[in-house]
Amino acid sequence: MSSLEETRFILKKYNIKANKKLGQNFLIDDTVIEKIISSAEIEKNDLIIEIGPGLGTLTSKLLEKAGKVIAIELDERMIKILTDRFKLYNNFELINEDVLKVDLKKLIFENAIDEGKAKIVANLPYYITTPIIMKLLEDKLNIASITVMVQKEMADRITAKPGDKLSGAITYSVNYYAEAKEIVLVGKESFIPSPEVDSKVIKLQIRDVPPVNIEDEEVFFKVIRASFMQRRKTLINGLTNSGLIKDKEKLLQIFKHMNLNAEIRGEKLTLEQFAELSNLITKSI
Ligand code: SAM
Repeated sequence: MSSLEETRFILKKYNIKANKKLGQNFLIDDTVIEKIISSAEIEKNDLIIEIGPGLGTLTSKLLEKAGKVIAIELDERMIKILTDRFKLYNNFELINEDVLKVDLKKLIFENAIDEGKAKIVANLPYYITTPIIMKLLEDKLNIASITVMVQKEMADRITAKPGDKLSGAITYSVNYYAEAKEIVLVGKESFIPSPEVDSKVIKLQIRDVPPVNIEDEEVFFKVIRASFMQRRKTLINGLTNSGLIKDKEKLLQIFKHMNLNAEIRGEKLTLEQFAELSNLITKSI
């Protein structure tokens, strides 16, 4: 049975309508599913964490390849379906919870296979893509990679080169933790129901060490966020408005020291420049 037939069959059998608020767009394109699975490079002893398994389309493929799959799903209606569907698998665990509330560090620690790293694979609910990705990165989990479907615009931001027109706070934050690459563009027609926008699968390969030295990560991320909060404002205004550094004179001195024009905007800086700027701010506050 194709994923399209399977999805229609399950939706009818359980009399279910997709819940838009939960970002439910079910993937029905077998080529895209295969692409996600192959690019995640799943090995026999891998622990996979799937976020938002929905009807289980990706889950069934993950279960064929991985040592263990732990799926985290918020919608109780899906829990019934997934439990029925995968009850014969002893390498499947289901958690009925909001992924943002799950202690993923503990979960991965307790389920790691042969002390290996886990891999995250998901067709993410788009309404909370950023908080999910930032949680996965900031919690410093024992993970090797994150292979996920996200909105095209978000994928373009994440995979943009720092300094590109498309870059945003998330470009720099993700870049600090991981190497991001685009896997494939996915049209609206690959889902039921069709979302309003196109999507992309991206893969984040987690770095062993960050590419820049940061004195205080909290300040570093605050500087990045403040720089992009008001995109049309200059970097200096963004930073002084944020309250992180109130003394504009001090900031001007830092800019001079770094040979930065006082009118420069955040998106013009490289990751290295953000690192240097935040380290100098850390020293001055
Ligand atoms: N994996 C399925 C697929 O590819 O067809 C469904 C993907 S759908 C885009 C997103 C899934 O995330 C839905 O099943 C939705 O119920 C679930 N979800 C939404 N918010 C969630 C949350 N906060 N925590 C866990 N799952 C969530």
